[in-house]
Amino acid sequence: MQHASVSGELPMFRFSPNAYELGLFEVEDGTCQSCGLRRSMRYTSSFYSVEEVSYICPWCVADGTAARVFDGEFTDRASIDGVPHDRTLPITVDEVEAEEVATRTPSFPSWQQGGWRSHCGRPCAFLGDIGSSDLARYLEEPDFLADVNGGLGWDPDLIRTRLRAAGDLAGYLFRCMTCDAHRLHVDAS
Ligand SMILES: [Zn+2]
Ligand SMILES: [Zn+2]
Repeated sequence: MQHASVSGELPMFRFSPNAYELGLFEVEDGTCQSCGLRRSMRYTSSFYSVEEVSYICPWCVADGTAARVFDGEFTDRASIDGVPHDRTLPITVDEVEAEEVATRTPSFPSWQQGGWRSHCGRPCAFLGDIGSSDLARYLEEPDFLADVNGGLGWDPDLIRTRLRAAGDLAGYLFRCMTCDAHRLHVDAS
């Protein structure tokens, strides 16, 4: 009998360190379609593949099995800052880490296909949702301030007043893996 999922040995995700707290997995008994094992936790966020997949266990997210078996991605590689849509252009972010974000990291729930922030030439870690009232503590960071002040193509006043966690104008907080700087992503319904 498999009891791995109740043994406290859940895999961790360095690019999504709060994945379990954020509800990117939910407790549900089932058979993982990727490894075929009975599991008690299911991935709930986006997975892009030709085949419709409804049950992926945390281990098959973490070790790349699901991405390989279904030839899928959790996050569209080209939505990561520094990965150009045009594949003939040079990639300006760590390619191995971009691959890890795309194929071995839970995506974050968003209205549109998300924009995964990068910093210091590496994809950032996704920390969670953020609303207008929580922006202040990061505004002394120049790159975060630039994200707020139009760097993402959004009206700064809207971001400062209307941003809500998981709202119609949703904010997402990222942190650099190298220098701990924060970055913002904004998405609208
Ligand atoms: Zn599995
Ligand atoms: Zn950095």
